[in-house]
Amino acid sequence: MSKHPSPPSHPLISFVIPLHNEASNLEWHYKHIVEFMHGKPLAYELRYVDDGSKDASLDILKKLHAQDPSHVHYVSFSRNFGKEAATSAGLQSAKGDAMVIMDGDGQHPLETVDTFIAQWQAGAQVVIGVRETNQKEGVVAKTGSKTFYQLLKMLDSDQEVVSKSTDFRLLDRQVVDEFNKLTERNRIARNLIDWLGFRRAFVPFHALERHGGEPAYSFEKRFKLALDGLIKHSTKPLKFIGGLGFIIATLSAFAAIAVIVETYLLGDPLNLSITGTGILALMLSFMVGIVLICQGLLALYLEDVFHETQNRPLFIINEKA
Ligand code: UDP
Ligand code: MG
Repeated sequence: MSKHPSPPSHPLISFVIPLHNEASNLEWHYKHIVEFMHGKPLAYELRYVDDGSKDASLDILKKLHAQDPSHVHYVSFSRNFGKEAATSAGLQSAKGDAMVIMDGDGQHPLETVDTFIAQWQAGAQVVIGVRETNQKEGVVAKTGSKTFYQLLKMLDSDQEVVSKSTDFRLLDRQVVDEFNKLTERNRIARNLIDWLGFRRAFVPFHALERHGGEPAYSFEKRFKLALDGLIKHSTKPLKFIGGLGFIIATLSAFAAIAVIVETYLLGDPLNLSITGTGILALMLSFMVGIVLICQGLLALYLEDVFHETQNRPLFIINEKA
């Protein structure tokens, strides 16, 4: 294989689009993509995943498929499994040389896809949309995502985490093949993609307003997703417990020794008049420290089990000759 295998001359682009109750956007979005791809020297397919929509989304998908069977494909879930599962399903069914993951609500601008494709043709294997600050975004959401990325950066030493990187991205076939081999159940697609590595490029974009309908992600869901992301990325919080125990135990041991020497050996020259209760308190905090150290030890084993159950491949090969 050549060092930088260039994409085929008439490549197939797959749009992977997870949908949950997007009936008000679907037809509009579909037409938008068809117009966008018209006249380009690229073949394309639309891989919709209906993630248990309760509205007419599936009926519209069926209609679109009947009208345009060569371009429109869909899978429909038996219930709502969440966007991460939907994205994974879309990536599994897509046949493209490159796949563009995008939301079905019109928030991801198609013009940016042009830049994605150009970057891909220039040799990038993962092209990541980076969201520019949205003026309309609420203060809570803004500071929330900022804190989250700072935390992630602090906790995660193995990977370069780019703030505001989104699910809106293009993946080369080779990356998707590797992604499809990952077996983790509780997953966040973009974090797994970041873990895979490969040659990456970043493209800034301004998220647009939703075309219609309501966003499905509540604050609660977002918070859970953020927490999941942290936990999956780092076992440092587990080890932190052990460190805390070590500090508490050491400090209280020193304090206890100092008190015993001062009171009983030297006859309280500093006039501290430490009572038995005070010594008891020091002994208690020493024991708490020991308990925490033991938990930290357990955490080391837990970390090992955690990595084993993730069952990630030992390495990912990009090129070989
Ligand atoms: N979505 C999905 N399953 C869900 C929730 C959302 O497939 O359980 C889809 C949704 O239809 C949209 C995309 O994921 O295409 C992003 O969702 P949303 O617009 O609600 O999130 P936001 O833009 O606020 O991040
Ligand atoms: Mg949206």
